[in-house]
Amino acid sequence: MPDEVKWTFPGATAAILPSLRTLCGNDEGKLKTTDNGNGSFDCVCLVPATNAPAGSSSTTAASGADSAPTSSSAIVSSMIAATATPTNFDYNEHLIPLKSGHSISKGWTSWTGHEPKGVTWHWTAGKTIESCRELLGGPDAKRKGEASAHYCVGRSYDEGVDIYVGLENRSWHAGVEQKLRWDGKGSNSHTKGSRSTIGVETVNVGYARSGFPAKSDWIEVADTNCKWVMKVQPWTDEQMNMMIDVGKRIIARWPQIRVRDHHGHHDICPGYKSDVGGFDFARLLRGIYDDDSIFDVWTPLQSVESRQRALIELGYDLGKWADDGHWGDYSAKALEDFQRDSNSTVIGYWTTFTNWAVYDAFEVKGLSLSNLSN
Ligand SMILES: [Zn+2]
Repeated sequence: MPDEVKWTFPGATAAILPSLRTLCGNDEGKLKTTDNGNGSFDCVCLVPATNAPAGSSSTTAASGADSAPTSSSAIVSSMIAATATPTNFDYNEHLIPLKSGHSISKGWTSWTGHEPKGVTWHWTAGKTIESCRELLGGPDAKRKGEASAHYCVGRSYDEGVDIYVGLENRSWHAGVEQKLRWDGKGSNSHTKGSRSTIGVETVNVGYARSGFPAKSDWIEVADTNCKWVMKVQPWTDEQMNMMIDVGKRIIARWPQIRVRDHHGHHDICPGYKSDVGGFDFARLLRGIYDDDSIFDVWTPLQSVESRQRALIELGYDLGKWADDGHWGDYSAKALEDFQRDSNSTVIGYWTTFTNWAVYDAFEVKGLSLSNLSN
């Protein structure tokens, strides 16, 4: 076996460049990229033989001949196999059969251009990956015919990651009471979450309640209604690393999914679902996209007071109550006015889409979100 094999990836998107870098053993000299100027790159990788999956289309570097990959999906599949296989945790398949009566639908529909439009992140509200698997995974899931997800990410490397539905098919992870779609616009029956986005469960008990008392490190965050402040169990470091790996797999297969296409279940079903309030989207997305410049639009807007301060900064009148932390009629009206003025869906709930709209409005005014928290 040669030490290195040479792979060519014509028309690679920017999203898979990090994976190609990994494929080359993070040796910049082994990856040559030519910018095609249309968002795609022609790439030549010298891949250590140990990284090259069996049966991949490749030739030796010494021969000087470029490989001629036969199909882009085969390239991506072998690339995922080569780069995303973790060394410290396992992906465990508990696939739901693609048959009627199960919580799975074949393919992506024409309503979304035959591709998923985003990723919806969830919490399980339970303690272990086994409890999630019992409910959602395999042929005998307790919620067969009702609900599922593509992945479930455990809290430790020992738990690993479960796969219930492949990325070519739809899982039933959202839909009931869905008000908004992946881009924050109003949803209809054809674009609801289970028809348009990939669903990832994360093992997390959710908010403190009877039987699940808050600990000192739990995250305080206002719900989308801005009236109820939850205390949410933090996600673990190992879990974060696994979530980043799952995200990289998703965008390697579906590179059109960008930073703003990630949201929580609570963002598309506000007022009905609270998962995943308090989620560290910034850390997750910086990891998935290898981009530390992704702005944290979530943490500065977690409290009722900071949301009120943001509206005041943007010129809305909160009366004498200002940023008192109580979401009354003035705050509610200001939020709806802001949503109208920013061409957002006027819904009266504070979602990830609101965070991005505030961030954009602050940018226009030369303000910084970082100054809101105190
Ligand atoms: Zn959920």
